Amino acid sequence: MTAHFADPARQPAGQPHFHFVNGVLHAEDVALPALCKQLGTPLYVYSRAALHANFKAYRDAIGERDVLVCYGMKANANLAVLKEFARAGAGFDIVSGGELQRVVAAGGDPGKVVFSGVGKQVWEMEAALRAGVKCFNVESLPELRRLSQVASRLGVTAPVSLRVNPDVDAQTHPYISTGLKENKFGIAIDTALEAYRVAASLPGVRVVGVDCHIGSQITDTAPYLDALDKLLDLLRALADLDISIAHLDIGGGLGIRYDDETPLAPRALLDKVFARLDASGLPPVQLVMEPGRSLVGNAGILLTRVEYLKHTDARNFAIVDAAMNDLMRPALYEAWHGVLAVTPRSGEALSYDVVGPVCESADWLARERTLALREGDLLAVESAGAYGFVMASTYNSRPRPAEVMVDGANWHVVRTRDTLASLTAGESTLP
Ligand SMILES: *Cc1c(COP(=O)(O)O)cnc(C)c1O
Repeated sequence: MTAHFADPARQPAGQPHFHFVNGVLHAEDVALPALCKQLGTPLYVYSRAALHANFKAYRDAIGERDVLVCYGMKANANLAVLKEFARAGAGFDIVSGGELQRVVAAGGDPGKVVFSGVGKQVWEMEAALRAGVKCFNVESLPELRRLSQVASRLGVTAPVSLRVNPDVDAQTHPYISTGLKENKFGIAIDTALEAYRVAASLPGVRVVGVDCHIGSQITDTAPYLDALDKLLDLLRALADLDISIAHLDIGGGLGIRYDDETPLAPRALLDKVFARLDASGLPPVQLVMEPGRSLVGNAGILLTRVEYLKHTDARNFAIVDAAMNDLMRPALYEAWHGVLAVTPRSGEALSYDVVGPVCESADWLARERTLALREGDLLAVESAGAYGFVMASTYNSRPRPAEVMVDGANWHVVRTRDTLASLTAGESTLP
């Protein structure tokens, strides 16, 4: 691993929505020390303006084109977040019946929902058919057959798109790459045409689209364009079979800035995608996208307090009150998150590993960060809006953090902190 040294002048990854005012980190117009005093730590804080700015970057790149942005909601499924995107006109990419229930609860339009995932169960198919989702992104032939049966039983036909695995390398972390032959996702591109033939012959499904999702935290357009070229070839072959396609779904995966990455701007990708579509000679299709991380990642931070500073011969540890159960990405992917002091101190800085109290060596949030710290200081773990709270657990019987959404000078608790009583809810002992 390369060592990273925090630049004292480092600007927050989520600026301008997270920014310093007179040496104190703010979310929009809310000073974060006061928020922590009132609500405690660890605490997830989201910026409403950042969510809308991120969505607007897609809208601006789309212009007058027919593009449906389906928020890949597994990145952050809080109802308040969903509500903001529903208000902005987004659809949703869901991966479970539970996520469908959240979309409905947040006032989202099921007619703009695409249902992805390799393991859809019968009850989930039924719920999605009853809700009237836009499309099932089907990932295997057994799933296709089961969906046809379930729909026939309900007396409806299921709109389907086959998730094609284009076998392209998204050059990202192996755990978040999904478009390679070796991955469990999708139907291999070289068997896709045959799968579409099967789909066209089944009574309970009707083909409406083609879909792919090649991975996550992608910072280059090349893997998308490689995948697109393969999908366009498939569209041509489908047209020859008289199987007509209403939409083409290019998935999510656009990367954000955690450290010094150059994020992939929606416009940079879409301009090239539109150019290829226009040059393809194919009839116009609706484009669907499923961005998750790029809509929410830099719209959130995780605030945590330093409990202890522990100096050993080998290392300096800042032991904080947030842990891998609150933010799992470092433990799961060795992910790098920026760490900022909420009220930076002058004075001697040391290289710290920022670790939590959980009894696992994998329980670290950041390594080798140059920080000037004292016990009780507040730290902000940046870019925590995506795959943060949604992956939280109560491991070590730790209550999950509260979530707050800031809106200008106001803030709203959008999920209360777990209580100690809630930790054992549903459990019982034998008589
Ligand atoms: C996770 C996922 C997304 C969102 O991915 P991001 O990298 O967060 O943009 C979109 N589509 C599918 C099928 C997914 O599994």
